[in-house]
Amino acid sequence: MNQNWHGTLIRHLLLLVTACLLVGLITGDYGWSMAVGLGIYLAWTLKQLLRMHNWLREHKPDEPPPDGYGLWGDVFDSIYHQQRRDQRVHARLQAVIDRIQESTAALRDAVIMLDSDGNLEWWNRAAETLLGLKTPQDSGQPVTNLVRHPRFKDYFEQNNYAEPLEIPSPINDRVRVQLLITRYGNNEHLMLVRDVTRIHQLEQMRKDFVANVSHELRTPLTVICGYLETLIDNAEGMNPRWVRALQQMQQQSERMQALLNDLLLLAKLEATDYPSDNQPVVVSTLLQIIKNDALALSAQRKQRITLSIVNEAKLKGSESELRSAFSNLVFNAVKYTQAEGTIHIRWWDDEQGAHMSVQDSGPGIETKHLPRLTERFYRVDSSRASNTGGTGLGLAIVKHVLLRHRGTLEIVSVVGKGCTFTCHFAPAQVINS
Ligand code: ADP
Repeated sequence: MNQNWHGTLIRHLLLLVTACLLVGLITGDYGWSMAVGLGIYLAWTLKQLLRMHNWLREHKPDEPPPDGYGLWGDVFDSIYHQQRRDQRVHARLQAVIDRIQESTAALRDAVIMLDSDGNLEWWNRAAETLLGLKTPQDSGQPVTNLVRHPRFKDYFEQNNYAEPLEIPSPINDRVRVQLLITRYGNNEHLMLVRDVTRIHQLEQMRKDFVANVSHELRTPLTVICGYLETLIDNAEGMNPRWVRALQQMQQQSERMQALLNDLLLLAKLEATDYPSDNQPVVVSTLLQIIKNDALALSAQRKQRITLSIVNEAKLKGSESELRSAFSNLVFNAVKYTQAEGTIHIRWWDDEQGAHMSVQDSGPGIETKHLPRLTERFYRVDSSRASNTGGTGLGLAIVKHVLLRHRGTLEIVSVVGKGCTFTCHFAPAQVINS
């Protein structure tokens, strides 16, 4: 109520009181005329209030307010204008929402909004074709009930969405989808889903090609190696230059064999997501065997190799895959550490899970190389690697094996002091005896 209406209201009341006093003067009964006058005013005010109530309750968006006299007319008009302003803002917002919904509906990628508990709130049309969501039945359902792939459940629950997840579509096995989750607002989730079937097929073709070539090269190479061995065994009386050439040929063909074996192992590791067998693996025994092999590999270089087993925890997984991963790390330490250096292998567990580390006193690796070290054929120093006979695939194998065992690889290194490679396994993978 503004100042103007304040004055008018007081004037009206004064007028009413004066009129009542005049009637009182004529009739001689001031009390009654005052009571009747105020009663009439109260009844009129209540009637206006009732009209406003009816209008607010029943009026259609564009219906003008009822005519009101004085202050009540002004109140009706103010409410009406306020409502018109709100309607205009509402219409503008609705237009923006409609445009956003139209554009997201036209997207080929699925956009899904989930609340903080992972229940479906909103999705576009592509989500129906890619994930089979149904409007409106699925609204409010937990997303893990509708996308039932075990890897999705793990991915969703781990709360770390730095990397996208690739799985088959829940409604069509031949369609591969890539899911990417971003958190926003009050811990709500925005999930983007893309059809990556073509990229997946190309990737599959690449893997199959490498696996087939490696497999096909294996037999001829075995024959060549066999003949070279026979020739070297019968090299008496042969020109020493030829013997040297044969020895070099044997060395290189052995390298090729190691390379083919590593390529085939990588192809096998990539073929499935989780290890085929999920047996309890006694890591302490495995590490003891690997340590003995490392001592044999170290031979005259006389490195000091120690093993400390802090706990007898077992790991769920594939023994042969874990052996490949752990021996790659230990043998790398033997290969790259100078004679009489030290190599320390540890196995322990804590509330974060179980851990296996290999620490050496070798030359170390510059920090800039660390992020790329697990890439295939990535080498810090190619001359150093060719001397050691490495294939460049060792750490790629380690990375893949760990991925399949819910593990991660941590590499810490100080140049000139050595490196520590640590495999961390999630508590879900550990069996405490
Ligand atoms: P390679 O077969 O060449 O050893 P890897 O994938 O096992 O291939 O290792 C990649 C590179 O990482 C190696 O070429 C080497 O330069 C470096 N590297 C691995 N382990 C060690 C280590 N313990 N000390 C120093 N460098 C290492």
